[in-house]
Amino acid sequence: TFADFKKLTAHAKDYGFVFQSSEIYDGLSAAYDYGPLGVLLKNNLKEYWWRSMVQLHDNIVGLDASIFMHPKTWKASGHVDAFNDPLVDNKLSKKRYRADVLIEDHVAKIEGKLNKEIAKAQKRFGDAFDEAEFRATNGNVKRYLGQMEEINKRLATAMTDGNMEELRQMLIDLEIKDPESGAADWTDVRQFNLMFSTQLGNIAGEEGKLYLRPETAQGIFVNFLNVQKSTRQKLPFGIAQIGKAFRNEIVARQFIFRMREFEQMEMQFFIKPGTQMEWYNKWKETRMKWHRALGHPEEKLRFHDHDNLAHYADAAVDIQFDFPFGFKELEGIHSRTDFDLGAHMELSGKKMTYHDPQTKESYVPYVLETSIGADRLFLAAMSHALRTETVPGQDDENNVRDVMKLHPALAPIKAAIMPLKRNNPEIVKVAKDIFNDLRFRFDVQYDDTGAIGKLYRRQDAVGTPFCITVDFDTIEEGENKGTVTVRDRDTLEQTRIKIEDLAAFIGPKVDM
Ligand code: ATP
Repeated sequence: TFADFKKLTAHAKDYGFVFQSSEIYDGLSAAYDYGPLGVLLKNNLKEYWWRSMVQLHDNIVGLDASIFMHPKTWKASGHVDAFNDPLVDNKLSKKRYRADVLIEDHVAKIEGKLNKEIAKAQKRFGDAFDEAEFRATNGNVKRYLGQMEEINKRLATAMTDGNMEELRQMLIDLEIKDPESGAADWTDVRQFNLMFSTQLGNIAGEEGKLYLRPETAQGIFVNFLNVQKSTRQKLPFGIAQIGKAFRNEIVARQFIFRMREFEQMEMQFFIKPGTQMEWYNKWKETRMKWHRALGHPEEKLRFHDHDNLAHYADAAVDIQFDFPFGFKELEGIHSRTDFDLGAHMELSGKKMTYHDPQTKESYVPYVLETSIGADRLFLAAMSHALRTETVPGQDDENNVRDVMKLHPALAPIKAAIMPLKRNNPEIVKVAKDIFNDLRFRFDVQYDDTGAIGKLYRRQDAVGTPFCITVDFDTIEEGENKGTVTVRDRDTLEQTRIKIEDLAAFIGPKVDM
């Protein structure tokens, strides 16, 4: 069975994946620290993204832009005027919420009822069950679908129009209650800008006001011509970047899903105007394939079209992942037109056009963006990987194990090396020699802190694909001399391998 959310967060802490920030001071909400294993897993995820985007594409190059940017950047991008969340307070509990999120949660509840209805019917009809037909004909399901569609439409219109009064009316009409107090007593809905601001040096007032970037994308846009000219790229080409972004989120919950300081992996693909739908579809498909290649099954991923398009987009879709709290956005794919380059060109007075050497035309390129949160990807990978299972063929009370079935290329530790007897100097020496040899190629761990069975369980719990054990056969005369056992995390099979063949055995299985 998959771990539930509570178990997942406890596991993340206990094994050194994720800690709450400033925990000794009771924590800072929506800020988290990655522990020793967490930083390895996160680095692997970033590396995997970077390689597939930059290393494996002739026409995508990298960038690492600064977090601070000229304040005019955020005027041009629209973030000063339009990067707002609709906030509402509950009069009784004094708790603050995002009105749109309360409404989305309400829709999710209806979807939950709908799914229950489907699961029930599935059980009743077994193999004969036809979900499409059931959806089209069952009265309850049709009613739920209708309700969801109506609410989503109304929400989309209100958000696009920035109609705060309508959002409040929706809370009332849908009888949405405060999850905290159970009361439906709402204040007016107000807009709240999500950017963090700070002051530049000793310059006071608006003049010196700086923002922490709320997305990495703008560092790419303002460098478009620097990169294009220095790399002599021709359209279409992309610029990829991994970096921190900051948003003063109000709904700070769900662990690392929504943080105030987080990391984005973004790629802006510059294209000829008019070709955006072609590239939009191509990147949708490419990114979905990438998620599947990480080992996430089809049913955990889905596309979700945006009902309300952001001011900069002419098409947008989310890749949603089935997190322990339901399907939520993991990655966004946006057709941003020439909005950003055009806006920067206008405000800076600098040319942002590309000269097409073939057609001899000059134009402002259109942009296709893929944007994914490294932290959300981390949460997705970990939540899918962590399971509790009974060990086949073992029927004592120790037959239950927690195991993280991460793709071996993502696993923080690739192999653990253990001596069967930690008080046997010869066994220990061989084990340490193996460790000191393999550490040059892989992240490996030497562990002699318990009985082998216990050590195996610990490595299972952190997703280590291979456990290497040095035993008496390794050192004693006989056909197994110079070999060790390698235990596979998933099949639990143990194979005897020659020590000198270990790197060649592990390498292809854990390489990206
Ligand atoms: P949401 O609707 O969940 O707030 P968004 O639509 O504002 O997300 P984008 O602006 O499209 O998100 O950002 C691109 C990606 O950055 C998201 O798909 C997500 O993976 C990540 N991301 C955005 N905000 C956060 C956050 N507060 N914490 C962690 N990751 C985030």
